[in-house]
Amino acid sequence: MRLGRTLNSLEATESVARALAPLLRAGDVIALEGDLGSGKTTFVRAVAGALGIEIGLVSSPTYVIANQYPNRRGPRLAHVDCYRLSGPEELDSIGWDLLTDGTWIVAIEWPERVGGVGGGAIPLEPLRVRLEHGPARGGAESRLLTIEVPGEWLVRPEFPALVRAMRAETRCPITGVPVAPDAPTYPFASEQARMADLNKWFTGGHAISRPIDADDLAGD
Ligand code: ADP
Ligand code: MG
Repeated sequence: MRLGRTLNSLEATESVARALAPLLRAGDVIALEGDLGSGKTTFVRAVAGALGIEIGLVSSPTYVIANQYPNRRGPRLAHVDCYRLSGPEELDSIGWDLLTDGTWIVAIEWPERVGGVGGGAIPLEPLRVRLEHGPARGGAESRLLTIEVPGEWLVRPEFPALVRAMRAETRCPITGVPVAPDAPTYPFASEQARMADLNKWFTGGHAISRPIDADDLAGD
């Protein structure tokens, strides 16, 4: 299943990472695609933080191809950056076999450098994360995030929270204030605003634009 949303801030990226982390299991692979600077490493670090991993304590990833993070609270995380690799055969040198033994969550940047998704080394259906630069608004950078969720993940109990986190940021139609995608009263700013909207329906403030006919009431 494909989900997409605009990320208007680092906080928005972190809120999606917070919703994704509880969905992850040992053995899962996350393939991250997107240009340099699109936010792949930022996203993985936010996922690590949400998993309870203190990434600040671990070496800088700049020239390290695979970082391994133990995790006292859940599955351990391997963060692999294939930017400097030039083919799947080079995965041997970073211990890929060990990282795919089912005991790690593996996040892999630049999967296209090692054959890409479906290219042999990476499982056929990883979680695919694509980040693209979006339009800059008022000096702030934005990103377009697309997540393709493997079919077998859809039954995991934490999946609906990811769907909620991937809803668009919006403004409350009643109060006009911004509403976060995971707000319990989304798309309204508060329960009060939700009731005000409902009241508009009862008092004729909202109306349907044409008469209802039999087709509207049929199941599909
Ligand atoms: P990549 O790993 O894709 O090369 P990085 O995560 O290293 O990219 O860098 C992304 C840069 O973009 C960081 O400096 C980050 O602060 C910035 N940035 C700005 N807005 C966002 C956003 N909404 N999500 C992620 N990164 C963002
Ligand atoms: Mg990176």
